[in-house]
Amino acid sequence: MKYDIERMKAKLKEILDKERYSHSIGVMETALKLAEKYGADVEKAMVAGLLHDCAKGLSDEELLKMAYKYGVPVDNILLKVPFLLHGPVGACMVQELFGVTDEEIKRAIALHTTGDVNMSVLDKIIFLADYIEPNRDFEGVEELRELSWKDLDLAVLRAYDSTICYVIKRNMILYEKTVSGRNDILLKLGEEKHEKIS
Ligand code: FE
Ligand code: FE
Repeated sequence: MKYDIERMKAKLKEILDKERYSHSIGVMETALKLAEKYGADVEKAMVAGLLHDCAKGLSDEELLKMAYKYGVPVDNILLKVPFLLHGPVGACMVQELFGVTDEEIKRAIALHTTGDVNMSVLDKIIFLADYIEPNRDFEGVEELRELSWKDLDLAVLRAYDSTICYVIKRNMILYEKTVSGRNDILLKLGEEKHEKIS
């Protein structure tokens, strides 16, 4: 192993509360299994899963400050919903705090909340593991878990659907990348899978 996971865990435990730390362990374990199933780099999946929420303990003000510090672009939506920055800011923090320079890991962390177009298998795994890890409990989570072991793209599509419904029901701002990411998956699923969807 290139990465010292135990050391990363110990450090993460210091910066996250108990609940978020357990969530991170759950995402790491789920990402590991998904990586084995879908042929992604298991170690990268574990590191990205473990560290994906490393910026989650920061306040809105701190997230904005860190975004400016790291040069993460902040548009008017992110200014209103700084919570969405915990992905991109976290991707920069893993380098500074944990010495992770791998671009694939950083990208998966950056995209995990919003999704994006052209997601790699690793990006999809982290996005999905964040949804279905064992501590998660929401309506439809069991179906999503089952689907996750059958078809990665369809499961990611359903995860997008679930996010979008959640955001709309609560009158929250829907981020563009979530919409373009969902459209991108649908376009790539193509005709054969369109039958599966309907
Ligand atoms: Fe997150
Ligand atoms: Fe998370």
